[in-house]
Amino acid sequence: MEDNSKVCLFCKRNEQEVPLLAVDFKSNHYWICPQHMPTLIHNPTQLEGMLPGAEDLQAG
Ligand SMILES: [Zn+2]
Repeated sequence: MEDNSKVCLFCKRNEQEVPLLAVDFKSNHYWICPQHMPTLIHNPTQLEGMLPGAEDLQAG
Protein backbone atom coordinates (compact mmCIF):
# COMPACT_ATOMS: atom_id res chain seq x y z
CA MET A 1 0.00 0.00 0.00
CA GLU A 2 1.44 3.32 -1.01
CA ASP A 3 1.93 5.83 1.76
CA ASN A 4 0.53 9.01 0.30
CA SER A 5 1.15 10.86 3.53
CA LYS A 6 4.93 10.86 2.99
CA VAL A 7 5.14 14.37 1.64
CA CYS A 8 6.66 17.60 2.89
CA LEU A 9 4.10 19.02 5.29
CA PHE A 10 4.75 22.48 3.89
CA CYS A 11 4.94 22.08 0.10
CA LYS A 12 3.45 18.56 -0.23
CA ARG A 13 6.21 17.35 -2.52
CA ASN A 14 6.97 13.66 -2.15
CA GLU A 15 10.19 11.73 -1.82
CA GLN A 16 10.34 11.23 -5.56
CA GLU A 17 10.76 14.98 -5.98
CA VAL A 18 12.80 16.02 -2.96
CA PRO A 19 14.69 14.39 -0.10
CA LEU A 20 12.43 14.17 2.91
CA LEU A 21 13.53 14.47 6.52
CA ALA A 22 11.58 12.76 9.25
CA VAL A 23 10.06 14.96 11.94
CA ASP A 24 8.61 13.50 15.11
CA PHE A 25 6.35 15.88 16.97
CA LYS A 26 3.76 15.24 19.64
CA SER A 27 3.91 11.49 19.00
CA ASN A 28 3.11 12.01 15.32
CA HIS A 29 5.40 11.54 12.35
CA TYR A 30 5.81 14.14 9.65
CA TRP A 31 8.10 14.73 6.72
CA ILE A 32 9.71 17.93 5.60
CA CYS A 33 12.02 18.78 2.71
CA PRO A 34 15.36 20.55 3.24
CA GLN A 35 13.95 23.67 1.64
CA HIS A 36 11.37 24.02 4.36
CA MET A 37 13.43 22.81 7.30
CA PRO A 38 14.52 26.44 7.99
CA THR A 39 10.87 27.41 8.09
CA LEU A 40 10.24 24.79 10.72
CA ILE A 41 13.19 26.08 12.73
CA HIS A 42 12.79 29.83 12.36
CA ASN A 43 9.15 30.43 11.47
CA PRO A 44 7.21 27.48 12.86
CA THR A 45 4.08 29.56 13.20
CA GLN A 46 3.85 29.49 9.40
CA LEU A 47 3.04 25.81 9.83
CA GLU A 48 -0.16 26.52 11.72
CA GLY A 49 -2.90 24.55 10.08
CA MET A 50 -0.38 22.15 8.54
CA LEU A 51 1.31 20.89 11.68
CA PRO A 52 -1.10 20.44 14.58
CA GLY A 53 0.37 22.13 17.62
CA ALA A 54 2.74 24.35 15.63
CA GLU A 55 1.45 27.38 17.51
CA ASP A 56 3.14 25.95 20.61
CA LEU A 57 6.53 26.21 18.93
CA GLN A 58 6.74 29.97 18.91
CA ALA A 59 7.60 30.15 22.59
CA GLY A 60 11.32 29.93 23.10
ZN1 LIG B 1 8.81 21.48 1.39
